Amino acid sequence: MKNIYTFENEPFVNFKNPKNKTEIEAQLNDVQSKLGKQYPLVINGERIKTERVIESLNPGKKDEVVGYVSAAGTKEAERALNVASETFKTWSKVPAKERVHYLFEASRIMRERKHEFTAWMVFESGKNWLEADADTAEAIDFMEYYARQMLDLANPEPLIQINPNVDPDMYRPLPAEDNKLEYIPLGVGVVIPPWNFPLAILAGTVTSAIVTGNTVILKPSELTSVIGYKFVELMEEVGLPKGVLNFLPGYGSEIGDYLVDSPKTRFISFTGSRATGTRIYERAAKVQPGQRWLKTVVAEMGGKDGVVVDETADLDQAAKDIVSSAFGFQGQKCSAGSRAIIVESVYDEVAAKVVDEAKKLVMGPGKDNFEMGPVSDQKSFDKVMGYIEVGKKEAELLLGGEAGSDEGYYIEPTIFGNVVETDRIFQEEIFGPVLGLTKAKDYKDAIRQYNNTEYGLTGAFHSTVEERIEEALEDMQCGNLYINKKCTGALVGVHPFGGYNMSGTDSKAGGPDYLLYFTQPKMKTRKLSNLS
Ligand code: NAP
Repeated sequence: MKNIYTFENEPFVNFKNPKNKTEIEAQLNDVQSKLGKQYPLVINGERIKTERVIESLNPGKKDEVVGYVSAAGTKEAERALNVASETFKTWSKVPAKERVHYLFEASRIMRERKHEFTAWMVFESGKNWLEADADTAEAIDFMEYYARQMLDLANPEPLIQINPNVDPDMYRPLPAEDNKLEYIPLGVGVVIPPWNFPLAILAGTVTSAIVTGNTVILKPSELTSVIGYKFVELMEEVGLPKGVLNFLPGYGSEIGDYLVDSPKTRFISFTGSRATGTRIYERAAKVQPGQRWLKTVVAEMGGKDGVVVDETADLDQAAKDIVSSAFGFQGQKCSAGSRAIIVESVYDEVAAKVVDEAKKLVMGPGKDNFEMGPVSDQKSFDKVMGYIEVGKKEAELLLGGEAGSDEGYYIEPTIFGNVVETDRIFQEEIFGPVLGLTKAKDYKDAIRQYNNTEYGLTGAFHSTVEERIEEALEDMQCGNLYINKKCTGALVGVHPFGGYNMSGTDSKAGGPDYLLYFTQPKMKTRKLSNLS
């Protein structure tokens, strides 16, 4: 049996259970007492403090500093590239069985201390308990899943062997051979995760690269570098050899290009916006002096995801799913359903239900576990508020539209009605708590409008008619399509995740072939007989 079949998803914590509630509250208090510390770079295991620091703030309480993180410049980036190149010579020779051990150990410890990791995310990313716990669970899942997948990849299916039994009078026999296809590592990888899944995506992209035998330079998002540091500490705790994972926080605009352009970089594993992703894709394509390979780029980018509802659907369920898709973690998921496309005969009814449902959402700090929290930072706040102004001109404001308490970056859940498919708020990723409702003539028109975007990440289709569901499954152009469900909440192994078109390079994180992106297949043929 393949190792991957023994994988099980980490369950989500039920915080209604008083024991769990007490435990998370204790961890939140403990983490709060540790806020405001300094965090260095880690290159080859060495702690390096820089003069310039990134001030990482709690987005729900702007005057609370989560930590001061050293910011690397190009000098430190070059050092990290040299260390990672040197360490690759030894790490790439470490057997897969030994490499997977570090992932299993890290997931075991993270499971034991899951509330601690969850609590750090509550402070640094503004998630509520449920969202942060799901992030921790996903990080554990990625490590468990990729470790098993690596064990399978290290023992690939046998190749077709030469048939020695041909009739020599009729055919020329070929010499007997032993043939093997092995998956070997690529080299130095630059891993660039976003802030919105600061543990899960970071852990998944780092460990998939490491377990396949590559060395890594991790440049975390400047908004969530403390969580990045906590993960690096965990990998040190499990004994990962020095230099395999190098922690290089800094400003993407300063060291990002340097790392991407370097001839020492063999691959880039990026998750973030369309703008940064396409920039990396273009720059990585240019062969630099001294470069001896073509760089691999895995880019997971944005989305303009949506929920389609026809007139036969369970409208109460559809409304609930539209609201949780749009406003979970304040709409800051790449999978967030920022569009709902509804058949006109039920549009008014669904719109009213959606507004009623969204009115129930209460906004406040993640620490106190409100349904809705802040957006990530001032830049995001300004961007989302800008789109709300665009929406007020383009469409009909049905709910919200204002900022919340200025203690943090709070924005009310906002819904626009009568959005049309040429509107900017229909086409552009907003990445905040803003939902647009659009009318469609019928379900075919709704699917057509859904597809009228350059993105292709997630979608949902609500209907009770089997032929329509089959049609949606076939025709809705996205990497992750859900029927009669919300369009967020992918589970590792269960819903391999990743999008098409301007949503990315078509890879599937948490899917059965993900590790192949970080390897190159090597064919080994050994002649066994002396036939020529
Ligand atoms: P972002 O602004 O593109 O940043 C992503 C990462 O890229 C950060 O670590 C950032 O560093 C770094 N970066 C910035 N400029 C760079 C450069 N020139 N070269 C190299 N790296 C650079 O995106 P974000 O705001 O963090 O994340 C939100 C976006 O991610 C949304 O569009 C969302 O849809 C997308 N996303 C996609 C997926 C998916 O699986 N498809 C999952 C999650 C999020 P700094 O923080 O220091 O600028």
